[in-house]
Parts: sequence; structure tokens; C-alpha cells
Amino acid sequence: MNKLLVENTDGGSVAVHVKNVIIGGKEKVVISGPCAVEDYDIMISIARKLKKLGVDIIRGGAFKPRTSPYSFQGLENEGLKILKKIGEEVGMPVISEIMDTRDVEGCYNYIDMIQIGSRNMYNYSLLKEVGKTNMPILLKRGMSATIEEWLYAAEYIMAEGNKSVVLCERGIRTFETYTRNTLDLNAVALIKERYRLPVIVDPSHGTGIRELVTRMSLAAITAGADGLEIESHIVPDEAMSDAAQTISMETLKTIIQNVKKLNIDFS
Ligand code: PEP
Ligand code: MN
Repeated sequence: MNKLLVENTDGGSVAVHVKNVIIGGKEKVVISGPCAVEDYDIMISIARKLKKLGVDIIRGGAFKPRTSPYSFQGLENEGLKILKKIGEEVGMPVISEIMDTRDVEGCYNYIDMIQIGSRNMYNYSLLKEVGKTNMPILLKRGMSATIEEWLYAAEYIMAEGNKSVVLCERGIRTFETYTRNTLDLNAVALIKERYRLPVIVDPSHGTGIRELVTRMSLAAITAGADGLEIESHIVPDEAMSDAAQTISMETLKTIIQNVKKLNIDFS
């Protein structure tokens, strides 16, 4: 097999820049916001809080890959427009999931980082398409993907020329049913040891239960993660999607304060 681009050949890891935010550098990066962009007023009030708490990048889904076709599918292009507006107003980068190759080109004007969701990790046409851009990409692990398949998905993007790839562990399907997914922190430790890409953790989809998010966030950082992607809302119970795993601004504050206290030397 040829040497892969994701392999750590020279002991150096890659840092990915999203505007002024560096993922994979010294500082842990926190991406947060609601599962879905709901409307401008809710989004701007969330964004202002996130800014105050020291969150680095705002998340919000515009195209939502829901299990049921009858569930809220997101505001689509209108959602991207809202994200752009609030990103400019609060002065923070924004990330959103793109699901369709036809939406890749247009999204440059609205968002600063493209999220490839778990359901699309195997969508090789989409991976190739985002590989042709120079946008930073957050590649979530497929819910039943092995680490090898996930790394090859990253390789698909990088082979097209785009080396700005950040991996995101978001839990995998196992026989366990008490939690939505099983957060595989082995994957984080292994990628940090052997591969060159930054890796962050999504404890929201990783657990599906908001009460578990603080502990699993801190466990993720302790395992070596470069950051976190966490679903949060000003009124978590009223979130239009994934309410059960969405945390309050107060909980997010606690997580950020505790992440700052962790200073682990892995060398
Ligand atoms: C999300 O981040 O909102 C999302 C849909 O995540 P995943 O693709 O990991 O299910
Ligand atoms: Mn979600």
C-alpha cells in the first residue's frame, strides 16, 4: 500500500485554520451551538452567549439529515444565510453540514468550515467535491465505520488537494442501547498517536443524553482530543432537534472552565 497522506511520517501533526481559530494547536477548540438553525432571533441570542463563554466556532445545522423524512429538515439555504449574518455580527467563524455535492460551491459564501456528517462519511462523490475546495472540513465518523474506513474517507478529501481536514469522533453503534451511541475514545488516542490530523469529539451525539456531556467532554480532552463539538441552546428543552442531548449555556460554561484547567502533557 502507498504511504497515506493521513499518516504521521515526520512526527509532526497538522493544524487546521478556520479564520483566526487553529484546530490542532496548543489551545483546545470548542465548537458549539444548536443542532439546527431555527430562526434568526434564537440564533443571534445563542451566538452572543457563545461568544461571551469563549466558544471558538458557532455550529448550526441548515440541512438536517433526520432519521424520519417527516421530522424538521432544517431551513436549508435560509439557514446558511442566518449563520453568515450572525457570524459577522458576533465576529466568529461558523460551521454547518453540507449533504449534497450541488450545495458545495454555493456554501463558500456563507460558512467558514464544512461539516460532513456521519451519514455521509461514505459519500465518496461528496468527499471528492469538498476535496477540490480550500475550505476546512470537519469529517464526522460514520456511525458504523471502522477507524480505517474513516481515515480512508479523510484520504479521499486530501487526495483531491484539500489537506485541511479535522476528524470528529461522534460515537459508533454497538450492542449498547442505554446511550444513543458508544463514544469511542480509543479512536482519539490512536489517531493522536499514529496520524497527523487533528481530532475533536462530539459528546452530544456520542451519548444522546445531556447529563453525560460534561463528563464525556472532559474524558475526550483527557484522551488527547484537540477540541469538542457540543450541541447547546438557550432553552435546551425547546430545541427543534436533538433536545435530549442539548446542553444549557450554564453547563457549557462549566465544561469550558474545566477544559481550561486540564493541561495534560502527552509527550
Ligand atoms: C450534527 O452534528 O448535527 C449531526 C447530524 O451529527 P452526525 O452527523 O454525527 O449524526
Ligand atoms: Mn444533532
